[in-house]
Amino acid sequence: MDYSTKIAHNVAGIPRSGIRDFFELVQGREGVISLGVGEPDFVTPWHIREAAIYSLEKGQTTYTSNLGLLSLRKAIARYVGEFFDVQYEASKEVLVTVGVSEAIDLALRALLNPGDEVIFHEPCYVSYSPSIVMAYGKAVSVETQKENGFSLKPEALAAAITPRTRVLMLNFPTNPTGSVATNEDLEGIAKLCIEHDLIVLTDEIYSELRYDGVKHVSIASLPGMKERTILLHGFSKAFAMTGFRLGYACAPQPIIEAMMKIHQYSMLCAPIMSQNAALEALENGTPAMQMMRDSYHQRRDFLVKRLNEIGLSCHTPGGAFYVFPDIRSTGLSSKDFATRLLEAENVAAVPGSAFGTSGEGFLRCCYATGIEDLRKAMDKMERFVGTL
Ligand code: PLP
Repeated sequence: MDYSTKIAHNVAGIPRSGIRDFFELVQGREGVISLGVGEPDFVTPWHIREAAIYSLEKGQTTYTSNLGLLSLRKAIARYVGEFFDVQYEASKEVLVTVGVSEAIDLALRALLNPGDEVIFHEPCYVSYSPSIVMAYGKAVSVETQKENGFSLKPEALAAAITPRTRVLMLNFPTNPTGSVATNEDLEGIAKLCIEHDLIVLTDEIYSELRYDGVKHVSIASLPGMKERTILLHGFSKAFAMTGFRLGYACAPQPIIEAMMKIHQYSMLCAPIMSQNAALEALENGTPAMQMMRDSYHQRRDFLVKRLNEIGLSCHTPGGAFYVFPDIRSTGLSSKDFATRLLEAENVAAVPGSAFGTSGEGFLRCCYATGIEDLRKAMDKMERFVGTL
């Protein structure tokens, strides 16, 4: 059968993930030091795992409300109120989802009509552009530059807005650059969103992982923004819970209602044992989360220092667990650099081009890897760069 005629056009047109391509090269190799996968190297703290086990032991093996357990939604509203300084009503403004991934998909499908434009800043997380296309929207990227710490500048955003723009997607701290927005830039961005009546979809999954004592500010907390913002967050990164697949969206009720309509038919609800674990994370997980954050902070400082010593210019990212060194001085493309580094030294890092065209000339190194491996990886990288 000719399956090419059976697959939906908008899905057939989606390119393969550059990360997936690269990891096919890594698979099957022995002894690779991986700075590749954006996943905590910590196991989920024991008391959180125990909450999931206890949930099973008690025989809690059922569906929950489509919105998620009310106890969890209350805890989320409390946590978001304290951490982000935005107040949401647990009964109708919070939706528990299967990771932030599902929440992105639901939000875009709930908001877009065919051809509506969605602006996002690039380099960015690999799912954004395909998720927009799968929701029949038009993906409009705004490139960010190393000179600005890869942050989105209001002037650049203003130039990309058209009468068809419906949504702005933000991600601070950013995957893959670790960049954060200044308060001044966030205010400028908010002003534009109000002026042009845009909805903001803000993915703040790395918001606890801010360094140098700086507190994260959400665009949802700025004046006039809560009513036009969908705040997405989850447990994968800060609480080291990727496998639990749990996230949430906080937004005005009509938007949550629209997202819920899709969620109730496509997913029904998030798994109950993961919801119970997430409740434990919010109630008692902060000390463990801070311990992990302090460790990432140390590793970030180590990696930025070593990369600059090696001659790969690297800005100091304000958050997440990625550094994004500039490899242009080597004359290699990011794909060639990553492939040759893997072949020569068995160190895996992701080519910047996997995160959009503006990522070309850079390499994403994830430092959710033990410090000893980071040390070895940097020594190997130094030796490799010395051979070029
Ligand atoms: N958003 C960003 C920016 C990410 O980097 C990731 C995972 O790497 C996700 C969302 C997916 O998160 P989740 O595990 O909650 O689906």
